[in-house]
Amino acid sequence: MLSEKIEKALEGSSAIRAMFVEGKELAEKIGEENVFDYSLGNPATPAPSSLNDTVKDLLDKEDPLVLHGYMSNSGYEDVRAAIADNLNRRFGTKFAWKNIIMTVGAAGGMNVVFKTILDPGDEVIAFAPFFGEYRSYVSNFDGVLVPVAPDYDTFQPDLEAFRGAVNEKTKAVIINTPNNPTGVVYSDDTMKKIAGILLEKEKEYGKDIYIISDEPYRELVYDGVKENFLTKYYHNTLVGYSFSKSLSLPGERIGYLAVPDEVTEAEHMLSGLEVANRILGFVNAPSLMQKTVAKCVEEKTNLEFYDKNRKVLYEGLTNLGFTCIKPEGAFYLWLKSPVEDEQEFVRTAKKYNLILVKGSAFGCGGYVRLAYCIAHEKVIRSLEAFGKLAAEYGLNGQGE
Ligand code: PLP
Repeated sequence: MLSEKIEKALEGSSAIRAMFVEGKELAEKIGEENVFDYSLGNPATPAPSSLNDTVKDLLDKEDPLVLHGYMSNSGYEDVRAAIADNLNRRFGTKFAWKNIIMTVGAAGGMNVVFKTILDPGDEVIAFAPFFGEYRSYVSNFDGVLVPVAPDYDTFQPDLEAFRGAVNEKTKAVIINTPNNPTGVVYSDDTMKKIAGILLEKEKEYGKDIYIISDEPYRELVYDGVKENFLTKYYHNTLVGYSFSKSLSLPGERIGYLAVPDEVTEAEHMLSGLEVANRILGFVNAPSLMQKTVAKCVEEKTNLEFYDKNRKVLYEGLTNLGFTCIKPEGAFYLWLKSPVEDEQEFVRTAKKYNLILVKGSAFGCGGYVRLAYCIAHEKVIRSLEAFGKLAAEYGLNGQGE
C-alpha cells in the first residue's frame, strides 16, 4: 500500500514528464528526427568543455579521501567561499562562505527551505504560471500552495491580487525570474512593489514572510536584459540556485542556497537549513560536483545557442498568427492556445509530431509551453509543422 500523499502525487504526476514519455514513444514509431519535442527543459548544448577537464583534473590530483568523503552538511568551505566571492563580485553582495549552503540542485534546495520554515497549514504564494513541482515541494511539508494570477498582458504578477492573497498564514512567496514557463523577466518595478507589499504585511502581521528566489535561469537573459539578484529588494530573501541550466548539468544535481545576513536571525536560519539538508537524507550535495562548480563558477553556457532558437521560434510562430509572450529569459516560450481548452490544442499539435506541454500543468490554462532548448535545425524544421497546425485553426498568417 502506498501512502495517500504518494497516491495523490501519482495522480497529478508531472505533465511535463508525461509529454516527454509521449515524445519518446512517438520517436520509437516514426524516428527521433521526425519528432519536435518541446516538452522537457533539458539543455541540448553541452557543459563547457573546461568542466570535463576540471573533473579529470580533480580525479587525478585531489586527495580521494577529501574528494569522495563526507564534509560539513552545508558543503566544503572552499567551495562555498568561491561561490560567495563570485556573487559578491557580480552583484555587490557581502556573502561570506557561511552564507552559502551547497544543495542537490534547486529542487533539493527548495525542499530544504520548506522543511526548515514550514509548519502544517502555512501558506506559500506562487505567481501563476509556475513550475508545477512547487506544489509537491510545498505539500511535502504540509504547506498549502496559493497561486496568484498574472497580469495576462505582460505575465508579470498581478500585484493587487498578490496583496489580497497575503494573510497571517503566509510564510513565503516563491519568485522565479527569468520565469519557467513564460520566459518573462520580472521588472525592477515589479520587484520593488512586491517588496513594498511584503514589508507592509510583515508589519501588519508581526511576523517574518520570506521571498524564496528560485533562480536556475539567472544567467539566461537576452536582448540586453541584465542578470538580476533579488536580495537587494527585500531583507528576508533566500536565494536558491542551480547549475542545471547555467552549466548544462541537470543530471549532476548541484546547486546552492544563499542566505544574506539581513535575513532575520540569519545564523539560526543557516543552522536550520543545514540540519534539514542532512535529515532529508541529502546529507550533503555531491562532493565531486561541489569541487567542480567551484572551479568553473566563472564559466558560461552557450547563450547564443538558446538565443538563436528563441528568435527563430518567436518570429516564426507570430508570423503564423500565433500569439506568444516574447521571452526575455530562460529557454521557454509561452503561447496562447487558439482554443480555450489547451489540452485539445496539445493533442492536435501531436498529430503534427509537435510535443507541447499544457499550461494547466503550470497553474494557467489556455496556454502551452515550448521548451526550446533543442537542436536549432529541429526548431527550423518544426515551423512547417506549426504552419499546418496554424492552418488547422484557421490562423490568418499575418503575425502580430
Ligand atoms: N525551478 C525551476 C523553475 C525549474 O525550471 C527547475 C528545473 O527545470 C527547477 C527548479 C529544478 O532544478 P534542478 O535541476 O536544479 O533541481
